[in-house]
Amino acid sequence: MDNPEVVVVGAGPAGLTAGIYSARAGHATLILERAMPGGQVANTPEVENYPGFVEPVVAVELTQAMQGQAERHGAEIKLVAAAALRTDPLVVETSDGSHRPDAVIIASGVRSKELDLPGEKKLRGRGVSYCAVCDGAFFKGREVAVVGGGDSALDEALYLAGICSKVYLIHRRDEFRAVKAAEVRVRARNNIELVLSHVVSALRGTGRLEAVEVESRKDGAKRDIPVAGLFVYVGSVPHTDWCRGVIELDDAGFVLCNDRLATNVPGVFVAGDVRVSRLRQIATAVGDGALAAMMAHEYITGLH
Ligand code: NAP
Repeated sequence: MDNPEVVVVGAGPAGLTAGIYSARAGHATLILERAMPGGQVANTPEVENYPGFVEPVVAVELTQAMQGQAERHGAEIKLVAAAALRTDPLVVETSDGSHRPDAVIIASGVRSKELDLPGEKKLRGRGVSYCAVCDGAFFKGREVAVVGGGDSALDEALYLAGICSKVYLIHRRDEFRAVKAAEVRVRARNNIELVLSHVVSALRGTGRLEAVEVESRKDGAKRDIPVAGLFVYVGSVPHTDWCRGVIELDDAGFVLCNDRLATNVPGVFVAGDVRVSRLRQIATAVGDGALAAMMAHEYITGLH
């Protein structure tokens, strides 16, 4: 697309919904995606809290349907990362040229946070993973650990418990942050062992992960748990490096906005996990995408 009126950065549920609404409002809409359409949701097996499905829906089928819907309404998806945002006039730079739209919707999402332990980067892909759906099958019938106490950690521990012989769920507190329904299911699984009030303090293994060292937050006691895999779900960091310095961010790098999802830069709106928010769900991302697109539409029609 040569002259998009709206550039959406990110093709997760927020960006794809923004694409549907923007294209249906009559705007030439280009969605830029750095990796694979679908966003973080595509890394999870099933979704059971997105309205409209009685039974859990396969996550990738849900996001593929959103993608197909955006494309059917005329939005174009281009696989390239946004590299920089400039203002006066608005320009989105990519490694494959730049675009000068009337409005930009930031829907660039988040990526997994690392534990920042020595050896973690070297062992990534050699036992340390951030995506159970992508890598879980490599650990069929083996013992693995999951670290984290949020929805992601509990959902993925349940998924892995269906593949692996045993899952150690390591969480730094005694209470979970995840929704109660997930905790109830985790506690009911006899091959998930809870390792509460412990942190992962070291990774063992040179060529491949062989064990994790855990440390009690109550008495400082340390012990090794032999595992073939460690799945890290300790939260996320926003993809905002490409617009840092132009767009106002909070201390953690999430985009600040008003209740119309407008950022500090006229014509730039934000949607989904990348913005400051109290709740990050597919349902909230989809709502954001719709609102951001309609606010962009109002902005553009006021321009012309
Ligand atoms: P999250 O809710 O931020 O949870 C991160 C977890 O990691 C917390 O339990 C936190 O412990 C722990 N943690 C953080 N830093 C740590 C560290 N350095 N060492 C050990 N543990 C650490 O992240 P998330 O689970 O990825 O979820 C992100 C968002 O997506 C949430 O809004 C969540 O509701 C949503 N989500 C929803 C679903 C669903 O609805 N099924 C599925 C996945 C994600 P503390 O609890 O002690 O802070």
